[in-house]
Amino acid sequence: TEAYKRELFGQPIGLYILFLTEMWERFSYYGMRALLVLYMTTSSSGEDPRGAGLDWTSKEALALYGWYTMLVYVMSIPGGMIADKVIGQKKAVLYGAVVLCLGHGVLVLTDVWAFYTGLALVILGVGLLKPNISTMVGGLYKQGDIRRDKGFSIFYIGINLGSLLATLTVGLVVAKWGWHAGFGLAGIVMVLGLINYIIGQKYLTHVGNLSKKENNQEVSYGKLYGKLASSRKQLIITLVLLVFSIFGWYKMGWGYGMLFMFLTAITSLLMMIYKDLNSNIYKDRFVVLLLSFIMVIIFWGAFEQAGGLMNLYTDTKTDRVLFGWTIPTVMFQSLNAGFIIIFATIVAGFWAKRKLKGKEASSLFKMALGIIIMGFGFLFMVFAAMEYEKSGSSSMIWLVLAYLFHTLGELCISPVALSFITKLAPVKYASLMMGVYFAATGLGNKVAGIVGESASKYGEYTIFTGILIFTVIIGVLFIAILKPLKRLTHKAEDNERKIG
Ligand code: GLN
Repeated sequence: TEAYKRELFGQPIGLYILFLTEMWERFSYYGMRALLVLYMTTSSSGEDPRGAGLDWTSKEALALYGWYTMLVYVMSIPGGMIADKVIGQKKAVLYGAVVLCLGHGVLVLTDVWAFYTGLALVILGVGLLKPNISTMVGGLYKQGDIRRDKGFSIFYIGINLGSLLATLTVGLVVAKWGWHAGFGLAGIVMVLGLINYIIGQKYLTHVGNLSKKENNQEVSYGKLYGKLASSRKQLIITLVLLVFSIFGWYKMGWGYGMLFMFLTAITSLLMMIYKDLNSNIYKDRFVVLLLSFIMVIIFWGAFEQAGGLMNLYTDTKTDRVLFGWTIPTVMFQSLNAGFIIIFATIVAGFWAKRKLKGKEASSLFKMALGIIIMGFGFLFMVFAAMEYEKSGSSSMIWLVLAYLFHTLGELCISPVALSFITKLAPVKYASLMMGVYFAATGLGNKVAGIVGESASKYGEYTIFTGILIFTVIIGVLFIAILKPLKRLTHKAEDNERKIG
């Protein structure tokens, strides 16, 4: 048979190509990200054995970290659009990988301009690669194929294998050779990812191609925006949002101003797409998808304390000595990925077993449950902060437990959401909706940054307690309105069957 039809362990071989590409890409992303806040806050005098840092305050560092981790994912929207309209997902992933190699390469240099240029390139590269490689995974399966959910679970393990390898090795490399060697390592593995993707092309001939005018599938964003002029309700909402954006620009600076403008543009596009959809089933599904993205923002807003506030907490307030060895801070970032690899198949298997019994939970339920479980993890951070206030240092067991619950929550929401999108999104807007999803996670990252920053004002104890209470309440609220929400999916998840 043709290469792309061949299977390995019951999944198309293309899945493993995408798995490996994403694994190396995530290695570079998480490896670099784990260093970011620490590098920025290290003194520029060169006294630190890891080399000179940028000497920023933790508040400044967390602020840039928040913008960076937001933009990385928000760029998924243009990344998805470019794929849908201009080059297709497959080429978008290729170009994204090349840009990422350049970005990480530039970060090896020690100049400040190189720092900003490198970050900018990484933002563009991830925007092109991340949403589109995820949509390509969905493209490996026909509608209703029951292998899809499992495929996404496997893909998610690849993501975290990359993250695990990165956080285990980058810390050691930095301890021995300094910051820029760490950034360099990220660059080298990205080259591996690129090579792997190019070599694997023969297994991907059928996915990620630009589909031209297939059954009137063509999308024109220009036309959709053009129709805005004659749609009163949508036009008014857009104008109101625009006024708010300008006000926000004036009050909060150009960064937020641009962000609000961008969100306004996306909101009006989404409204016009909704109006343009030609069946009520698709309209309802579109709405429920967008509502589920609210959960996504809140989830990541809490979860992403990991790389920022919890990272700094680990660095400065946690007793990291184990059998006389001080564990490098960066290594704590491995816990999440390690737990994912251990528990991904267990959690997926648990839901599959319930499905066999006819008691399969809906994606929406799993997502709400994920928020509650993750939120509960903050209880252990509250204990940590309590211990610190009493004795001036806190045990690392709290971090381990917090990350464990964060991970179990993540497994209920994140791979589930990826698969859910590829089931519910209107086909011709598949990449765009994937982009909007990642943008929602990006907004979550920004929220995380804002919340984390405020710890310097309110103290960790208050922040961790606040997150705990808020997230659990939100999760419970979503479960309370599950029935009407589920109705809006119009059984998108009920007709899954085995397709050979
Ligand atoms: N950890 C996951 C990844 O890197 C999820 C990130 C996200 O959705 N923002 O893919």
